Amino acid sequence: MQSRRDFIKIMALGTGALALSGGLFAFMDPKREDGRPVVALDYKTATYCEICFWKCAGWAYKTEKGELWKIVGNDDDQHSNGRFCPRGTGGVGMYNDPNRLKKPMIRVEERGKQVFREVSWAEALDYTAKKLSGISAKYGPEAIALFTHGSGGKYFGDLLKAMGSTNITQPSYAQCRGPRDAAFLATFGEQPDSPEVTDLRDTKCLVLIGSHIGENMHNGQVQEMSDAIDKKATIITVDPRFSTAASKSKYWLPIKPSTDLALLLAWIHEIINNEYYDRKYVETYTTGLEQLKEHVKNFTPEWAYGITTIEPDVIRQTAKEMSNAKPAVIIHPGRHVTWYGDDTQRERAIAILNALLGSWGRRGGFYRPSKKTVPSYPHPEYPEPKTTWKDWFPGQYPLADNPVSNAFVDASIPTKERDAFLKAWIVNGTNLIFTIPDQAHTLEAIQALELLVVVDTMPMEITGWADVILPECTYLERYDSLRDSPHRKPAIALRMPAMEPAYETKPAYWMARELAKRLNVGEYFHFEDQADLLDWQLKKMGSSLEELKKKGVITWDREEDDLFFANGEKIEFPTNSGKIELYSSAMEQAGFDPMPKYTAHEEPPSGFYRLIYGRAPMHTFSRTANNPNLTDLMDENVLWVNPKVAKEWGLKNNDPVFLKNQDGIQSDFAIKVRVTERIRWDSVYMVHGFGHKQKQLERCFGKGVSDTQLITKVKIDPVMGGTGMRGNFVTFIPQVLA
Ligand code: SF4
Repeated sequence: MQSRRDFIKIMALGTGALALSGGLFAFMDPKREDGRPVVALDYKTATYCEICFWKCAGWAYKTEKGELWKIVGNDDDQHSNGRFCPRGTGGVGMYNDPNRLKKPMIRVEERGKQVFREVSWAEALDYTAKKLSGISAKYGPEAIALFTHGSGGKYFGDLLKAMGSTNITQPSYAQCRGPRDAAFLATFGEQPDSPEVTDLRDTKCLVLIGSHIGENMHNGQVQEMSDAIDKKATIITVDPRFSTAASKSKYWLPIKPSTDLALLLAWIHEIINNEYYDRKYVETYTTGLEQLKEHVKNFTPEWAYGITTIEPDVIRQTAKEMSNAKPAVIIHPGRHVTWYGDDTQRERAIAILNALLGSWGRRGGFYRPSKKTVPSYPHPEYPEPKTTWKDWFPGQYPLADNPVSNAFVDASIPTKERDAFLKAWIVNGTNLIFTIPDQAHTLEAIQALELLVVVDTMPMEITGWADVILPECTYLERYDSLRDSPHRKPAIALRMPAMEPAYETKPAYWMARELAKRLNVGEYFHFEDQADLLDWQLKKMGSSLEELKKKGVITWDREEDDLFFANGEKIEFPTNSGKIELYSSAMEQAGFDPMPKYTAHEEPPSGFYRLIYGRAPMHTFSRTANNPNLTDLMDENVLWVNPKVAKEWGLKNNDPVFLKNQDGIQSDFAIKVRVTERIRWDSVYMVHGFGHKQKQLERCFGKGVSDTQLITKVKIDPVMGGTGMRGNFVTFIPQVLA
C-alpha cells in the first residue's frame, strides 16, 4: 500500500497528482470499532485555508462526536477547483496542535528571557490599551506599527487607522514579491497579483526562473501547470538546482547563481535581433523598442555564456522556443524574488520579455483579473495621520507601493541624531525572527521598543520577545473577512467557525474591537458580532450570510467578455505614457536605469558555498514547522551538497554538519547532508523554515537549520526596499565533521 510519504513524493515530482481533498489525512480520523471514520455527513462548514496565502476555499467536516475530521476543497472555487494541497488538508493539525498558545500572557522578566504570567483577557487588554494609549499620547499614534501576515491583520490595521496610524506592513512585500510588483508596475502599470494572473492552463511555453511550482504548492497554479504539461507545453526551468519543476522541463538551465539578469538580457537580445517579437503587439502597445534594441545590442549569447555558464546554443534554442509559442508564453514573474538587491531590474527584464512576446493580456500568457468589491463596513472617517512611513527616510525606496517592513525595523532603532520613529509594534501572524533577515538587527529594534504585542496561534520565536501575548484562535475557529481576491471571474468565499475556539483563544476581530473600546475608538467597530458584519456586507452585495454558509463560494460572470485583449483593442495602460514601457520613464524619473543593466555580484570565498533556500510542498515557511500532521511528512530540512564538494569535505549522506556563514555566524543546530547531483558545486540548498530554538515548539525544536539565522548580509534594492538574501555563503565546521 502506498504510504503518505510516497504519496507526497509522487505529488512533488508529478505535478498532476495533487492530494484529493480529504484523502490525505483521512487515516487520522476518530475511528469506529470497525476502523471506519465516524462522520456527521450533514455537518460541514465553509472555510478558506489559512495555511498559505492562496486562500483555497473548502469545507471543514466534523464527526458525529463533534471532533474536527477533515478539510476538503470546494468544487466551485477557482483557487482550488475542489482540491486541497497536502498542507491545506493538514490544517486540521493547526487546530489540534497541543503546543498552541492557550491563554493571554504578560512578560514579567526582561525581554527574551521568556518569563511570563498567565492573565485574564481583561487584564491583557487593559494592559495593552494603557500602554498603547500612553505611547500615542507621548509620541503620537504614528509611533505604533503593525506587522501582519494573517487574515486577522485587517482588524488590527483598522484599529491603527482609527487611532491615526497607517504604519501597517506585510513582510510579504519587501521580503518576497515586492520587486516583481514594482517592475511590472513600471512596465505595464499593473501587477501580476495574487493569485498570479498567469493563464498557465493554456500556455504553450512556461519559463521558470528561480520559481519552483510544485515545491511552492500554490494550488491552482500547480493544477494549471499540470494541465499545460498534459497539453505538451514546453517548460524551461532556470535554476542552479534540479528542482521538481526542472524534472518536468524540456530545458533545465543550471545557471550560475546571481547571473540571471545576464541570461534575460541575452534572450531579449536574441528576440529583438531575430525579430522574434510580436511585431503588431509591440508596435501597438509598447514604447521604447529602439532604445531597448540599442541597449541590448552587445548582450549576445556568447557574452552571457561567459557570465552564466549557459551554452550560447541553449540560449538561442530557448529564445526560439519562446518565440514559437508567442503570445501563449509566460516568463513567470515568480514570488519570492528578493535575491541580490537588483531584483526590480531583473524583474523588469522579465516584464520586458513578456511584453516583447505579446503575452500580457493574451490567452496562454496573462489574463485580466476581475474582482468583486466587498463594501467596507460603516465607520467614521479615519483621522489623517500626521506622518507616514514615507516620511522617516525621505526619498528612500521611491517606487515602493507598499510599506517596507525592513524600513520599519530601521525606524525602530534610535541613532545619535534622532529618536526612534516607532515605539510599539503589534505583530500578527508573522514570526519576524524567521521572516526578516539579519536577526541581530531585528532584535536590536525589538529591544528599543516600549511595547511589543504579539498576536499568534503558536508560540513562535517572536512571542519569546513579546511584552504581551494575545492568543488567536485558528482559522477553523473564527469568522474572517470575505475572501475577494481577483481571478478569472469575480468571486467571494466565506470563512466561518467550524469549531468553538479552543482554550482561551479569541478571534482578531474581537481583540481589535475590545482594544478599540478601551482606546476610545470603539465607534470604528460598529458590529459587536462579526457574523452581523458579514451579513450586512453580503446583503449589500445581493446575498446573505445564510446563502454563503450553504455555498461557501459565490462566483459571478464577468461583466464584459474581456479576459484577454480583443483584436485591435485600444488600450490605455496606467503608465506615464499610456503604453507598455520597455524604456521605463518611472524608473528614469526616480533616478534608476530605465532599462535593466547586468551587475556582477559577489562570489563565494574559497571553501564557502552560496546558501540557496526554498520551499517544500508540505510546509509553509516556519508557520507549519510544528504542525503534527505535516511534521509527520517532513520534520526537518536537509542540506543538498554536490558530490564533488561532499568528496572534498569527506561528507556522506545523513552526516550531521553545523554551518558557519561569511560573518562567522554558526548555526544553532546541525543539518543532515544529502549528497546529490541536483545542486551545482558552488551552492548548497535547504528548505526554509526549520531550525527552531523555541522550546515550546516541541515537535520542531532543534530540527534542522534555520536559513534566516545564516542570512546576515542583506543587499537592499534601492528601487523598492526589498531585502536581497542570496548573497550569503556558508561553510562546514571542521571540528564537527571530525
Ligand atoms: S495552496 Fe494549499 S495551503 Fe495554500 S491555501 Fe490552498 S490548500 Fe491551503
